[in-house]
Formats: sequence, structure tokens, C-alpha cells
Amino acid sequence: MFEDIPVDVSPMYEGERIRAANMFCELAGPKSIGAELVQVAEDVEDGSVLVVGPNIDEMTEGERYPFGILAEIKGEKLEKELEGVIERKMHELCNYVNGFMHLNQRDQIWCRVSKEARDKGFKLEHLGEAVAALYKEEFPIIEAISIRIFTDEAEVESFLERARAQYEERDARARELTDEDVDVFYGCVMCQSFAPTHVCVVTPDRTALCGAINWFDCRAAAKMDPDGPIFEIEKGEVLDEIKGEYANVNAAVADRSQGTFDRVYLHSVFGYPHTSCGCFEAVAFYIPELDGIGIVDRDFKGETPLGIPFSAMAGQCSGGKQVEGFAGLSLEYMRSPKFLQADGGYERIIWLPKEIKDSLTDFIPADLVDKIPTEEDASSIKEIRRFLREHEHPIIQRLKEARKERREERKALEEAEAPEEVPTEMEETPVAYAPELTIPASGGVKIILKNAKVYAEKVIIKKK
Ligand code: SF4
Repeated sequence: MFEDIPVDVSPMYEGERIRAANMFCELAGPKSIGAELVQVAEDVEDGSVLVVGPNIDEMTEGERYPFGILAEIKGEKLEKELEGVIERKMHELCNYVNGFMHLNQRDQIWCRVSKEARDKGFKLEHLGEAVAALYKEEFPIIEAISIRIFTDEAEVESFLERARAQYEERDARARELTDEDVDVFYGCVMCQSFAPTHVCVVTPDRTALCGAINWFDCRAAAKMDPDGPIFEIEKGEVLDEIKGEYANVNAAVADRSQGTFDRVYLHSVFGYPHTSCGCFEAVAFYIPELDGIGIVDRDFKGETPLGIPFSAMAGQCSGGKQVEGFAGLSLEYMRSPKFLQADGGYERIIWLPKEIKDSLTDFIPADLVDKIPTEEDASSIKEIRRFLREHEHPIIQRLKEARKERREERKALEEAEAPEEVPTEMEETPVAYAPELTIPASGGVKIILKNAKVYAEKVIIKKK
């Protein structure tokens, strides 16, 4: 099928990484622009592949270029609602091409071409031909497909505008529904190829972590292929409406995560947060010193208030893990009225990147918009605390009440004559917090503390 393509095309190349040393050029990515889009169209010339802009043999080694890829598809059984799910497959199919690496989705794509592929004569039309053939194989309902690849800057800019309008149309439609309006949620395990225990639960209020698949997309995909990676979950018994815990969701997650997890809260980062794959658009993270939650997205290049960048944080909680205090999420979920509702929603958000905040101004409660700092206002815990105090963020009241409660508890304990168990001089915030802490022990035993908060009466730092 791929005789005319100078590099191999096979699922075995899906996990291939092209590092800087082996890279010929970069396409799209965080320092450039790009997008991918699949659209159902009436007039599709089957097999047509067009490259608009410089091709690989006209590019310079080590440079980056804007990049867009459009697949127009036609088929009697194809519905517009399938576009999102078919588009999400672009990631996997592009990665079948040896020497081509594709990361992320929508307008976040980031691709690389290896030096070996360039040396073998690989060009962008080969990518288009491979993707077209793979799409038809993967989705037999696609009767005709044409591919257009853009690398000319002006063309990519205008394509990006078109793609973003389409994403917004899809997302806005999903916003009209709430979890209460439906009897069925959906699960997706497409990311299990690299996150084997990850199960996305997609509800009208909770768009998938990748931000590319909403409830309508899932409905269309599950109808088209009931045995495929996207499947129905009858909503069934609600165990906790605020946290978003459902008996059938728990059962489906247990089944599809091979028994690794059996509880999930859809609307909380505490207890049993949603598992995280690796292609989430953002991460919500607990800041124990202030008992609040920060958000960081993959475009944010600086350090978060935890002292680590997005990439390090993503490394801690991705791969299909369920880590209390961290949850991968889509930016669209931040527009839902149920956004982390069990944790206090936006009243608990105490830091987020400015770009995200600006894009969500219409969805953040008006009385909170000016109270949430961004990197321009504060970066360290101390600066954030000062900003929150000065702007009377509700978390300050929450901290005061928690302190008062602890004081009362201590007093009650002292009165009950159990002072030996009460750390009387205890600081009121933990000195350390770790999702997982290993304590060395003897006799072949390892002690692992999960979600540990360490309080100390006194911290002594000794210089060796
Ligand atoms: S992030 Fe979730 S919804 Fe998106 S492709 Fe992966 S498993 Fe599916």
C-alpha cells in the first residue's frame, strides 16, 4: 500500500521520538503556529494530496516552520459529529510514518521530521498519502479523502483561523448540554497506547482531557463503532452529585483500567481524581501552603508556584496515573459550571497563567476575576499569599476559618487532658507535601506514604 513512500509506515513507529540531535526540522509547535482539521465535505477528490508552501527539500536543517493539515472526507454514513473523533486519530496515524513525530491535537500540534527521513527523500506529500490511506483503512465509512498540507505562513494563519472557528463551533454546541440532560456518558481509551491505565470519562460538562473530544463526538463515534475505543457508560446510580461520582463510571473505569482504579471523582482533584494520560491541555494542582488550586497549561513556559514547569508536573501525573492533588483537564472543562465544583470551583483557584485567564474571563465569576493572580502578579507562594490578601480572595477567609477550627480542636483536646498527642507549637501549614513519599526501611520492606502532608513542630537545617 505504501510502495511509493520512501519511509516505512506501520503502527510499530507510533512511540517514535525525534530528539533535537536527530531532528531535521520542526513543524508547528510552541514556538510556531499550526493546526489540524478534519471536515466532512461534499466535493472531495479522492486521493488528492496538495502541499501549499515549502516542502521538506526546500527547508533548512534545524529550522521550524508553520504547519497545517486539512483532511476533507466524504461518505454516505459520515456525519459532521464524527469530525472531532476522526480528527483525533490524526495523531496516531501520522505517528505510523517512520521519521515523522506528531504530538498533541487541534491548534496545539507539534511535529518533527527526522534527518534519516529527509535523507531517504521523505516529503510532505508522502505524509498526506500515508494519512489518507490509513484513514480509509481505519474508517471504512470514509469513501473519499483529500489532504491539504500548508507550510506557507500566510496560508497557515488563515487555516488556523478556520480551524479555530470549527473547534469553537463544536465546543459551543457541547456547552448547551449539562450532565443532568443525559442518561449516558462515554468512556475513551484511545490514549491507552501510551497510558495503559488511562480511561477518559466524557460527559456534557466534562470534555475529554485532550480538549478534542466532547460528548457529541463520543456519541457519534460509539454509534459508528460500538466495539471501538469510545464506548457508552449508562449514567446509572449517582453516588455523589457534587464530586461527580457514579457507580457505573467506577465500574467502567475498573474494567477498562484492568482493575487499577475503581473510583473516580469527575469534579475534584482530591480523593479519587480523574486519571491523566499525557495529552491533557492543562493540569490542576493543589498548593498546600495556601490550600488552593493552581492551573497550568502546556503553553506556559515558566515555573509554576510549585517551583516546577508544566513538563515536570505533567511527568508526575501522566501515563494513566491517578494522583491526588493533580488532575489533567481540558481548557473547555474550565468553562463548565461544574468545573472542580466539589473543591469550590473558581473560589479555590489561586493562580493561573494570564493567557488562560484572559481566554476565560467570561466564564470566571465576575467577582473573582480580579482576585486570581497570574504570573504577572505573583509567582512564589509568598507573593501569591500577599496578592490574595490584598485582593480579598475567598481562600483567605477559608484559611482563617481552618485555622480557627484547628485552634478549637487543639483547645478541646487539651481540655480533654491529652496534651501529649497535641503538637502545641505546630505551624499551621504543612512543611512538605508529596503525592508519594518513600521511606527507607530495613528487612526488605518499603514504606510508601501516599498524599502525605508533613507537619513539624520545628525544622532544623544543618550545614554538613
Ligand atoms: S485524552 Fe481521552 S478522549 Fe482524548 S483521545 Fe485520549 S483517551 Fe480519548
